[in-house]
Parts: sequence; structure tokens; C-alpha cells
Amino acid sequence: MDLLLSGRAAPRRQTRLVRVGNVLIGSAGPVVVQSMTNTDTADDFATTMQVAQLARAGSELVRITVNNDEAAKAVPKIREKLLQMNLDVPLVGDFHYNGHKLLSDNPACAEALDKLRINPGNVGQGAKRDTQFASIVEMACKYDKPVRIGVNWGSLDQSVLARIMDENAKRAVPLDAGAVMREALVTSALESAAKAEEYGLGGDKIILSAKVSSVQDLIAVYRDMAAKCDYPLHLGLTEAGMGSKGIVASTAALSVLLQEGIGDTIRISLTPEPNGSRTQEVVVAQEILQTMGLRAFTPMVTACPGCGRTTSTLFQELASDVQSFVRDNMPIWRDQYDGVENMTLAVMGCIVNGPGESKHANIGISLPGTGESPAAPVFEDGVKTLTLRGDNISNEFKAIIERYVAR
Ligand code: SF4
Repeated sequence: MDLLLSGRAAPRRQTRLVRVGNVLIGSAGPVVVQSMTNTDTADDFATTMQVAQLARAGSELVRITVNNDEAAKAVPKIREKLLQMNLDVPLVGDFHYNGHKLLSDNPACAEALDKLRINPGNVGQGAKRDTQFASIVEMACKYDKPVRIGVNWGSLDQSVLARIMDENAKRAVPLDAGAVMREALVTSALESAAKAEEYGLGGDKIILSAKVSSVQDLIAVYRDMAAKCDYPLHLGLTEAGMGSKGIVASTAALSVLLQEGIGDTIRISLTPEPNGSRTQEVVVAQEILQTMGLRAFTPMVTACPGCGRTTSTLFQELASDVQSFVRDNMPIWRDQYDGVENMTLAVMGCIVNGPGESKHANIGISLPGTGESPAAPVFEDGVKTLTLRGDNISNEFKAIIERYVAR
């Protein structure tokens, strides 16, 4: 069938498969969700707690900053503490400027990490750049660790940019500044990968990323990189921003690429609200993948937006309550029941679309709208099974969901 009419994303772009700890990244595996801590890594307790929080929310890899000797020394302690908590989530060390030194001075850090992230724009300048890059790759080879070569347009390798600009000036029709920047990003990633292989790193140990903060540039950069290599690609819109802006921009960019089969692991780089939860970026990443039909993590809750027919805030409260309930219980349910993540739930505000949408879900409830009798029919697998009334609808509906899951 024509892909446009198939109702599905394009098949994944074929890539090599890279093992990162106990997780496989590449087209033969699912698109992997990852995130990053914002604690001071030297504070091994706080960092362990945040890694655990992110892992329990569903982050399948967690990246931590390794920016100084204290942070490098904390990494093995963090690994140990996580193992004591029965969490073997792969840890990725994020290195800039001094990674070569930190890794060679702290072999236990190199050993405790499952992947190294290096930014070719931040490993040094001139002759030092090559030596320091080679030194990090040597450590990766020695400890058998994969590497993400993560280019970022905020820290693009200036020597690559200058060369691409020179080449561009000689073109009969020069590219515009944006195209030059995109070409420099892709070139930096690919040339660094080639150099890493030259220094002895296996082609199945390399993941690439080239992050920018503009949606259209990100799509163009990744399409280009995807066409030019078969390394797995880490997708993310860098510095996406706060709240709805960050979520919308990330979703817009990543959805286009994922729909085209591009992307093997994703991170949503949201700026948390003051006192906001770091796990929001994990939830958003999961929701992008699940709503696109690429993976399933938790029962999906369908809810109508509500309108003038909605009689009270009960409907919004119930939808929010049910969403939190299924998400909070998912780790337990997943351990006990197969396929529970494929369930769908509907919470609807009135009779107009309520019964119809509820019948399409595994379990649905239609709350009474304006002028309707004060009753909330519940549907299970398309059949009305009972009607809820009174002040305890939320708890009774959640009990129905639990009984359904157990069945
Ligand atoms: Fe409004 Fe009812 Fe439609 Fe919900 S289902 S948006 S309450 S008409």
C-alpha cells in the first residue's frame, strides 16, 4: 500500500546496532528514550536519586555531566548506588573540553560508564584537538564503550565551519548561511566518526547526533546525515525551551523525522519550570513515540477537550486523575501483565461523543453533560457494563480499570 495512505510511519532507516549497557540502539531495536540529569554529578547522592527518578519514569539511558575530577570520581559511586537499588540503567558520561584528561586520570569512571558522549567542537583546537579526540577514543576502545559523537550548533567545530565557508565561496552559486551551517554540522559529525574509526573504534560503537534549536534546520540536518551514513542517530532539538513551546517544537521536529523512519534514540531537552519535575521530558518522549504508534509505554487516555456542554470540573479532574493513575501504576502492571501498555481508556464529557469514543476504547466513561441525567455509563470492550453515580466516580472508575487489567 502507498505509504502515505498506510496509516503508519515509514520503515526505520537501516542502521548498525550499538549496545549501550543492556540497551540496544539501532534499527533492529525500538526507538530508545533517554534523558539527562541537572544535578552536580560530584554530589553522588543527589545525582543517583535523579538518575533513579528518570529511570523509573521510563528513561532507558541517563546522561550525566562529567565536567571535573570530583564528578569523574563520583561516577563509580553513582553506579554502585544504582546497583544497590536494583537499577542497571545505562549511564552516559557527557564530556567537554577535558574529557581526555578526566578519563585517563579516572579509569574507574571510564569503566563505570556505558557510553561516552563527546562533542567534536569542544575537545580542543588545532593539533591538540586531534590528540585529545584520539585520547578519548582510545579510552573508549580500551574499556569497550560506545561513543556518541554529538555535534551542536552552539559549539560547532570552527575549523570545519571555516573550511566549509571557504569551499562555499568558491561555488558558482554559493549556499546561504543556514545551508553552510547545516553542511558544517553534518560534515563535523561524519568526519569525526571516520576519524574515530581510524583510531580503532568499531563502526558498531558509534552513534551520531547533530542538534540545533530550529525545527526546520533540525529536520534538514538529520535527513542529510541519515542519507550519508548508517550509524544510529540520536534525535533531539537542543535548547527546545520551556513548557508548551519546548514540547511543541520538539514534537514538530522529531515527529517529521520519526515518520520518515529516521531516529534510533530520542531526548526531549525541556527547560524545567522552577520546581518542575525533570521527568517531564521522559513523559513527553514516550508520548511522542506512543501517539505515533512507534512504541507503547502506558495505557493511552483519550479525553475530549470539554465544551459548553461540560457541567463541572469533575470531567477534567477525572481525566487528569486517570492519566496519573495509569502512569503511576504502569511499572507494577507491566511486571505482572503482558500487553497492558496497549490498552486505551476514554474519559468523555457528555453524550455527544462520549459513548461512541468509549466504545472504541478498552474502558471508557461518559460523564453527564448539560441537561443529561446525572449518571456516567461505563463501557468495557465496547459494551456498557454499569453506570456510576454520586461523589465517588473517580475511585470507582479506577477500581474498574484495576479489575480489567487483572483480568
Ligand atoms: Fe463537548 Fe461532549 Fe464533545 Fe466533550 S464529548 S467536547 S463535552 S460535546
